[in-house]
Formats: sequence, C-alpha cells, structure tokens
Amino acid sequence: MSDTTDFFIEKFRRNLEVADESPRYFRPRPYRNAAVRFRKCSIDDFEKRRDILVNEAGLNAFLFRAAMIPGCDLLSDSGTTTMTMEQWAAMMLGDESYGSNEGYFELINRIEDVFGTGWVDTSFAMGGYSDSLFLFHQGRAAENAFFTILARELRELPEVPVPVLSDGLMPELKERIQSKLDSLPERRRSTDEAMFIIPSNSHFDTTQGNIEDKRMIPLNLPCREHLEKNEEFLFRGNMDLEELENLLAVEKERVPLVYLTITNNTGGGQPVSMENIRKIREITSRYGTPFFFDACRFAENAWFIRKNEEGYSDKSIKKIVHEMFSNIDGFHISLKKDGLANMGGALVIRKDGAFYKKFPHIREGFTDYQIMAEGHPTYGGLPGRDLKAISEGLRTVTHLDYLDARIGQVVRFGQKLSESGIPIINPVGGHAVYIDVDKFFGGTAADEDFKGIAFTGLMLIAGHRVCELGLYAFGSYDGKTETPPSPRVNYIRAAVPRLAYEDRDLFSVVEAARILADNRDRIPAVEVKYGRALSLRHFKSRFDFKE
Ligand SMILES: *Cc1c(COP(=O)(O)O)cnc(C)c1O
Repeated sequence: MSDTTDFFIEKFRRNLEVADESPRYFRPRPYRNAAVRFRKCSIDDFEKRRDILVNEAGLNAFLFRAAMIPGCDLLSDSGTTTMTMEQWAAMMLGDESYGSNEGYFELINRIEDVFGTGWVDTSFAMGGYSDSLFLFHQGRAAENAFFTILARELRELPEVPVPVLSDGLMPELKERIQSKLDSLPERRRSTDEAMFIIPSNSHFDTTQGNIEDKRMIPLNLPCREHLEKNEEFLFRGNMDLEELENLLAVEKERVPLVYLTITNNTGGGQPVSMENIRKIREITSRYGTPFFFDACRFAENAWFIRKNEEGYSDKSIKKIVHEMFSNIDGFHISLKKDGLANMGGALVIRKDGAFYKKFPHIREGFTDYQIMAEGHPTYGGLPGRDLKAISEGLRTVTHLDYLDARIGQVVRFGQKLSESGIPIINPVGGHAVYIDVDKFFGGTAADEDFKGIAFTGLMLIAGHRVCELGLYAFGSYDGKTETPPSPRVNYIRAAVPRLAYEDRDLFSVVEAARILADNRDRIPAVEVKYGRALSLRHFKSRFDFKE
C-alpha cells in the first residue's frame, strides 16, 4: 500500500518541478478567491467604449471610466491590489484614535521586522512618535515633503553651486545634464540660482516632477545593458557606476543624495542587483553622499536577487531585504505597491545615517510639514484601519510563495505577448510588461504622431486599459519644439494588479494586442487637442485620432 502511494507522491512531486507553461499548470495558486466582483459592462460593447474614449476621455487612458472596462485594467499596479482576508480582518480592528493609535505601533514593529534594525526606535523612548518614520497618504506626498524640505535646507547652505557644469564631467554626461537644464521651463531656470542634481537609475514620473518643481535636476543614470537593450542581462535596473563615480568626483557639492529605484519602474520594472547596491554604497560613502531607495517594489526586487544573483538562492526574502536596506540611509515608499494596500506612503530615514548627519535639523522640517499637510505624525493622513492593512500587507509580501505566484504570472503574460509577435522589454520585470513602441512600429512612426497614445486608445476600445510611458509621458513641448525624453524611452506599460486577475484574463489582453500588431499599419497618428506644453502632461492632455 505505502509503496503505491509513495509511487504516486513521487510522481506528483516530480510534476511540480516542471515549469508552468500555459495552458498546462502544475502548481495551483497559493491562495484562492474569497470574494469576487462581477463586471458592470460587457466585452461586446465596443461602440460604447469608443464613444466614451473619444467624446468623454479625449483618448486619455486616465480619464476613461473604470466601470466601463470589462477586461483587464492594467493602468497601474498601484493601490489596485486585491487585499487578503487577513488584511480585511485587520482593518476591522483599526484604532481611529487621533494620536498614537495602535496601528502606528504595530507598523513600527513591522518596519523593523521587514526592513531590518536601525530604522525606527522600537524602544519608543519618544513615546508614540518616531523622528525617523514619517507617514503620508501616498508615495508622492512623501516625495513632495522630502523635496520641499530638502530644497529649503539647500537654500541655506553657505556656498551654493551656480549652474556652470565642471569640465571634468564625461562629455556625454555633461551634455545630458545641460540638455535637462535647458529643457526646464523658463521660470525654473535662473542663472544665479544654485543648481542641484538628484541622480537615480531612473526616476519615477512623480519623483521627477517633484524634483523639477523644486528647481533641481533629476538625472537618470541607467546602466549600459539597459540602454543597449541587452536581453541576456538579468539586472537591467542597475545604475551606471562609472557615470555616478564621475558625477560625484567632480560635482559632489551639487548632489545632495543619490537615489535608486527598486525595482526600476521607468526602466521597465527591472531589478537592481545586490552587487550594484553594494557598489553604489561604496561610491557614495567615499564622497559622504547619502544614499536612498525609492523602495516601492522592494520585495519583488529581492525575489529577483534570490532567483538570479549568485549566493542568494537559499536565503529568505526577508534576509535579502535586510541586506539590501542595510546599505542605505533612507527610503521613501508607496505602500500601494509592495505594501499590498490600497493607500499609504512613508518616508523612513536611518537614525544615525549619512542623511541626518548631513542635514541635522531637517527632521523638524519633515515633522512640521507633516502636521501641516497630513495630520499628526502617528497617522500621517491615513485612517488607523489602513495602518493595520499596511502592516499585514508588509507581512504577506515577503512570503516566497506569494512572490513566486505574483512574478510568475507577470512573466507568463510577457512570454505570451512575445510569442504573439509583440516586442517587449526582456527579461520581464516584476510588476509589469513593457511593450517597446519603437520596435512595435518598426521605426516607421514619426515621434510626433504619438502612436503609443493611439495604441492605448485602441486597447480601451478592445476592453483593456494600458498606459503610455514614452514619448508623450516623458517628452516635453515648449510651444514650438517637441523634445523627446533623454535617454530615449518609448514604452506602453501593462501593469498587473496584485492578486486581482487570473492568467486567462491577461491572455485576453494578449489577443487584443495581437490584433493591433497584425494590423499595425492601420494604427492612426493622434493629434494633441489640449495640454501638450503642460507639465506632467500625460495626466491632463486630450487627443483625437488623426484619420
Ligand atoms: C508609485 C510610485 C511612486 C509614487 O507613489 P504613489 O503612492 O503612487 O504616490 C514613486 N516611485 C515609484 C517607483 C512608484 O512606482
């Protein structure tokens, strides 16, 4: 008897070692549905969606009613997570006290548990309030607070660097910074004002917006492998270390801190290696420059390190996260991503790190800003119940079976798109698949046709929502000339909400995209009807098909 069952157990186990390849699945999802939501509209209503798209939304995907999307809404993975039963249960226990609510203490303990020691004061020596954790209602609010107060501190420096760049900069790098400076709107360009540079592997769009708003230069230093679209390289989110070293060697007074976005959203949701993190730490330490993460997808990044970097395959996700975060002086995070929550953000600064050493008085500025803009520091614009959901989300997100299922699904989606002849960024990142618009049109589309916008419009008519993150989102227009982003990025992003869709839903997106690919010559250009010269224009603009 036991021989027979052993035989089958062996067979069943072997089967799990075979990689899932649709339509054959060997391993069930590590969760099951506990609530479902029926659609209010039908996939068959194509004309209705066209009408809304053209007449109501002006072809802007952000302005299209979500309730009219019968397929996959892949506009963003931010705040779109399906929460777990444990999170919903935790929310019921939310403590809505004005000061020092229960959820705050829980979150402080969770931060130490997930990100390692040295971040927050768990002895609560200052009562229910920490001057290293600042809560906000979302990530960009944390960014706004951070850059507002930082800019104020920088204005008070005794010697401010005027905007004449050093000749010691690598020529290509200097050119890039200069063109960034030249592309700032006139009112933000002043010849006698200090000019500060915030480098990153690639800044997210709101981070870029917040930095520019404070008259600083956001500078992207993506690694060569990313620029060369090297499909063999598994850590395309890395930063170019040579350029960083050169920048700090000759312009360190201009660089208040160095950023690293993990995973690199703008660069394709690509992970950053532990080696890159460690080397950036070495370089920044040598110049006394603080080093921060934009940490939105820290757990997904850790999963890639575990899978693809030597020496990590037998380490737990939490251990890897601890090691990643041991290298930095602070981070801001949107808890709407790997917090698995629908709202929330935080700014976390190491108590004895390089940032507080460099700017010893800045913590008061953050606290004051927070009280003025978000509420008491112990809730920071969030209901107590949301703090509970965030703590619980941060616990779940570091589980290996969750991350295996999550990223495995995104990867299968990417593979299916590739097989259908749609060029994507390879290898696929953790939260989204990026379609390469330049390759999709085979170099035949003129920059100012904004065919990426036409693509997203046609996908909405098909019943699915994806997002242009390319020439329109990152380019700029001064009333006469259109300046494409530099370095050039031209993608459509299909971001996959966490725990929300099954593979078959995503595969129906692939089928719609395949129809566009098979008929790419028929995809029209679009005309910008409103907002082309505005800042953050992709959120506000309106378009029409040019036919
Ligand atoms: C989402 C995101 C932000 C901004 O966070 P919000 O919560 O959306 O305001 C910042 N950086 C990155 C990399 C992001 O993905």
